[in-house]
Amino acid sequence: MGEGTKPGQERRRFRAIKGVRDILPPATDLWNWFEKTARGVMEAYNFHEIRLPIFEETELFARSIGVETDVVTKEMYTFADHGYWDLELVRIRIVNNPPGHWDGSVVQSYRTQVANLIDQCRMLIGAGEIPDTPANARALSELDLAVNAINSSIPPVGMGSTQFDASILQIVHYARSLKFGDVVTLRPEATASVARAYIEHGMQTLPGDQKLYYIGPMFRRERPQKGRYRQFYQIGAEVLGTSDAPAIDAELIEMLTVLIERCRIEKWTLLVNSIGCPDTPERKGCRPKYVERLREELRKVKDKLGADSQRRIDTNPLRVLDSKLPEEQAIIEKLPKISDFLCEDCRAHFEKLKQELKLRQVAFTEAPRLVRGLDYYMRTTFEITSPVLGAQNALCGGGRYDGLVELLGGPRGIKGIGFALGEDRFIDAIEEAKKIHATRPVDVFIAWMGEKAYPTAVRLARVLREEKHTVELPPEEMKFRKALERADKLGARYALIMGEDEIKTGELSIKRLADGKQEKISEDALVDYFRPKAGA
Ligand code: AMP
Repeated sequence: MGEGTKPGQERRRFRAIKGVRDILPPATDLWNWFEKTARGVMEAYNFHEIRLPIFEETELFARSIGVETDVVTKEMYTFADHGYWDLELVRIRIVNNPPGHWDGSVVQSYRTQVANLIDQCRMLIGAGEIPDTPANARALSELDLAVNAINSSIPPVGMGSTQFDASILQIVHYARSLKFGDVVTLRPEATASVARAYIEHGMQTLPGDQKLYYIGPMFRRERPQKGRYRQFYQIGAEVLGTSDAPAIDAELIEMLTVLIERCRIEKWTLLVNSIGCPDTPERKGCRPKYVERLREELRKVKDKLGADSQRRIDTNPLRVLDSKLPEEQAIIEKLPKISDFLCEDCRAHFEKLKQELKLRQVAFTEAPRLVRGLDYYMRTTFEITSPVLGAQNALCGGGRYDGLVELLGGPRGIKGIGFALGEDRFIDAIEEAKKIHATRPVDVFIAWMGEKAYPTAVRLARVLREEKHTVELPPEEMKFRKALERADKLGARYALIMGEDEIKTGELSIKRLADGKQEKISEDALVDYFRPKAGA
């Protein structure tokens, strides 16, 4: 047993959980470079950052992303948000270990547990700690009735009396239905949160369109593979407001392509499509007509499709077009195209978008079968793929979601468009292109020796750091030879050498590590020495 290990505690090493990874230096230097570049590009287009919570009510995602999507049905990290795990254990015992047959003392102890659960819940509801909902109130009064119906001192008439069994079933059912807190989910994407925040803060009253961007981790319980993680990072931008002018869509896409170019990623393709509009109370949309037709055609080829696509024929036929199964591609090719079904308005919107992209010299490919996995998209959809990424080739995707704000209970008539890009995949593509090396070198390594030199070393490290130089100051004395070797390994550009002699004379030695050139300067000249020289 190792030191510090208690009896019964195995020695074990912890690892990051499946699908989740650490991003280490020097890779983080590239990540930071990328995020800084993205902020720069988006700010030039007058987008402002929004910082959002990492978890939200589950219902927000279920409603906006759609209950028929993989994200909502299979991939969300959802948990009950409460601090009553002791109560949860009581509940688990009640639900999992009801008395199997009548036995006075067992029944008595079961009754006590249920009565405790009821009392504690009532107290916590009274204190505003657990939700005071009609469902919880009903569960508690049904539990009361059921627990009173079983009397531990009187055996039921005949074993397995129906009254006794029914009361136990009722207890199990209502104990299970009690909610000790909200059900929350780690965000699988951020558009729903942006729309929620927009509504919550009444941002429709602010002047003009709201142009917002976010940066941060998302969580989806997908099958991990290269370029696909369970915690991954997205940068996204959204425009919310009353206009749906195609110029907004085009500007957003242009901004993305500018970022790709700054990253010197050369091989990429922009795919665009329009997926029409849904029905509204005022008018019939063109997408439902297409979806019906698609469904009819899919029924004819149902036997040739995989299980997922077969199910989607009924639940969400558009998603069949999203299938990545190689054996389904030839079938998908022959399905009707949405472009043949667009209504006048959607067609005009799409035509204008294409003109706007040409005006901005953004090269694109029309992709009549490009739909997006999430329910809330309409009209413009787009995706940028890169062949350097392998199987997970989507760098980013986005589209218009004009009905989302209203769907989430916000004001009518607010339109929206946005994209989300996968940072993990951008970083892979940048590394693949090998054009950007964003490691941050150490500018100055301070090699000090002797107690007298140390205070000067600490002081000068601070002076240089204030001048924005990256300075490495060894926390313990090192022999000069060792210190210089370390400086070399760290890729430092200069070593500032100070021993007791230097302190006495007030002259420091500076060594340029690239060529070993060494010179002496006075402490006062130090800051100037490292300032960029005119013409240099
Ligand atoms: P989506 O929100 O599904 O439209 O995804 C937008 C972008 O996020 C994709 O184009 C990918 O670049 C990236 N992405 C989505 N899911 C993952 C994941 N599990 N791992 C890494 N990147 C992802």
